[in-house]
Amino acid sequence: MNDKKTAVCDECGSKFLISASKMKSLCPECAHILYGYESCNHVFRNGICIKCLWDGKKSDYINSKLFD
Ligand SMILES: [Zn+2]
Ligand SMILES: [Zn+2]
Repeated sequence: MNDKKTAVCDECGSKFLISASKMKSLCPECAHILYGYESCNHVFRNGICIKCLWDGKKSDYINSKLFD
């Protein structure tokens, strides 16, 4: 249950903690923006979220969604 495996997000290219995301190929942030899943309550330390390991990057596509 407490799986520490990481993966690389298909959308933004950031590393993320698989167990922190609802989707295996997307970080919590991208899964939230693209599919409406609950996002991580990011806590950044040295530029990386200590809860999901997302590095704060956003793809151009995500940025365009945010500014819709
Ligand atoms: Zn992502
Ligand atoms: Zn996070």
